[in-house]
Amino acid sequence: MEIFGQNVFNQDVMREKLPKAVFKNLKKTIDEGLPLDPTIADVVASAMKEWAVDRGATHFTHWFQPMTGVTAEKHDSFITPTDNGILMEFSGKELIKGEPDASSFPSGGLRATFEARGYTAWDCTSPAFLREEADVTTLCIPTVFCSYTGEALDKKTPLLRSMEALSSQALRILRLFGNTTARRVISTVGPEQEYFLVDKAFFERRLDLIMAGRTLFGAMPPKGQEMEDHYFGTIKERVGAFMKEVNVELWKLGVTAKTQHNEVAPGQFEIAPIFETTNIATDHNQLVMDTLKRVALRHDMVCLMHEKPFAGVNGSGKHNNWSMSSSDGQNLLEPGHTPHDNIQFLTFLLATIKAVDEYAGLLRASCANAGNDHRLGANEAPPAIISMFLGDQLADIVEQIETGAVKSSTIGADMKIGVRTLPALPKDATDRNRTSPFAFTGNKFEFRMVGSTFSISGPNIVINTIVAEALKQFADRLEGSSDFDADLEKLLQETAKKHKRIIFNGNNYSDEWVEEAAKRGLLNLPNTPEALKELVKKDAVELFVAHNVFTEKEIHSRYDIMLEQYSKTINIEALTMIDMAKRSIIPAATSFVTEVAHSVAAVTAVCSSIDVSAQKDLLGELSSNLSALNKNVKALEKIVEDAANISDVAKQAAAYREEVFSKMLEVRANGDALEKVVSADYWPLPTYAEMLFNL
Ligand code: ADP
Ligand code: MG
Repeated sequence: MEIFGQNVFNQDVMREKLPKAVFKNLKKTIDEGLPLDPTIADVVASAMKEWAVDRGATHFTHWFQPMTGVTAEKHDSFITPTDNGILMEFSGKELIKGEPDASSFPSGGLRATFEARGYTAWDCTSPAFLREEADVTTLCIPTVFCSYTGEALDKKTPLLRSMEALSSQALRILRLFGNTTARRVISTVGPEQEYFLVDKAFFERRLDLIMAGRTLFGAMPPKGQEMEDHYFGTIKERVGAFMKEVNVELWKLGVTAKTQHNEVAPGQFEIAPIFETTNIATDHNQLVMDTLKRVALRHDMVCLMHEKPFAGVNGSGKHNNWSMSSSDGQNLLEPGHTPHDNIQFLTFLLATIKAVDEYAGLLRASCANAGNDHRLGANEAPPAIISMFLGDQLADIVEQIETGAVKSSTIGADMKIGVRTLPALPKDATDRNRTSPFAFTGNKFEFRMVGSTFSISGPNIVINTIVAEALKQFADRLEGSSDFDADLEKLLQETAKKHKRIIFNGNNYSDEWVEEAAKRGLLNLPNTPEALKELVKKDAVELFVAHNVFTEKEIHSRYDIMLEQYSKTINIEALTMIDMAKRSIIPAATSFVTEVAHSVAAVTAVCSSIDVSAQKDLLGELSSNLSALNKNVKALEKIVEDAANISDVAKQAAAYREEVFSKMLEVRANGDALEKVVSADYWPLPTYAEMLFNL
């Protein structure tokens, strides 16, 4: 209790440090999402500085989230020269607005470097915090980042806009149900974060882990995850010590680190906080990823956040648990106790079903990157097909709504779907489905496709916006209604009928589902270049523009940035692979081949009748693998060069996927075949067995 939030300039600190009127003004701004009153900025800044300096801070930074997916900062000290020395100063102007220039971040053409101004502006809904690194303490102020012309260059601005969109549409629905007290609806998120740990000594000897965050070579060891003995296993001491320190660091930052456990793959772990407002959950998830990486190093380990560090065992994702709460304290996805509550719940539920069905492509695109392509569709993560799991009881009720004859699933009596006559819904459906990409888990949806490296901003921008749109269409239809109950019943029935194809309660990992989904007309977008196209389709652009989440220019710039990031990622991986093959693997295999060849010659020279067939077999196997590797590496060099020269971003990304990436699979197969026959004494890289089982 003492350390929780100790490094956060939170509401308690504000209450203590700010004049009463200023505090009230600021709190109202934060609670109701109003624009900040500039006249209080100086007072807030000065209190914030004093608090930070008291705790040893010398610098402050606007902490923002450019399109790289990680956070960015540029530190300024508080010192200001005076006639007779210096003062520690921090003005309201410095608090609310920064001009970091920051012209080298991706902008997808929104900014040319000659008009280099980029601005950061304080997001007072997310509290400022102190970051302690060794003996340096820095005051970090969460900010948005935009261009001179006001376009969003970051991941926070559109997220805040999407939260506004959801709030205004959800409020319209609540009003229809007679709610006059709620002033906002907030989307809430609890992201579960998976990651791997490896010993730093091994990491340092793997160029692929250093450059690409994943192994580009590596044969499977005799044991993988098949014994299921790591999942939820006893946490080893070294890892436990690391987790303890991670928790303390996070608690100081006000992050509610709650759950931790060993995950499925050896060397894999998970951490989950308690859910919060999406904006803060997004900032906090960045702090979680950052803290995991920094603390791991103190324990001579490296935290691998990549979606697939080790081919052959499970990769890492991020389960995005999402719901909506009203400011008067209701979880709108919580089935209620009374029929009245239930019809409201079913309205929000069916709006979400409609949203996911209509914009499945956008959800898929929001989880697309080169790393996640290794997971989606492999039998460990949801397939690239979006569907929803409701559980048997809820799916049954939706089916009954569709047929217009609702029976209670619990008491079996005939019921009509009127406001007065709804069944009591199961509060905590006991069945769980771990294979569904979008699963209802009792009072929230769990979006399971998100990759472990992702900022959760993108996926939540999409969820908030598509649900806002569905709610808008509901409200548009119902607001003028003269018979609300009857019209609502009709609307829900139509919605259930039209969108039930998205509901699937079976095994999403099965081949039958892929076939069945195709029959239902559901999208199956297997890779990033394909999935990203969904972002710039006409109806997607119209959706984002209509809800003021992205301008047309912003969405196109994001599409370009993401395609470029995809191509750059594969390019780096391919070049790393070529480097490792040419400078480590081929030389090591060649030395070993030479030794074996010498052995054949030496043994035969001593006695020509001795059987050297073993050495000759080995020589043959080594040489054929070596020449296959060599040939494919040469081919890869040429293919990468060709892809790098394509100027159209979409065509280039497609070439990296179809040409470069598929050649890399062959190169890897050749390298891994060699690993299995080259003497361990000669093999230049730490093996899977070493990296996965040595913590
Ligand atoms: P499991 O692994 O069984 O899915 P966890 O306990 O690991 O469950 O994670 C569930 C996550 O869902 C937690 O972060 C939790 O805080 C979050 N959560 C619970 N209720 C809500 C809600 N109403 N909105 C968003 N997230 C929620
Ligand atoms: Mg979990």
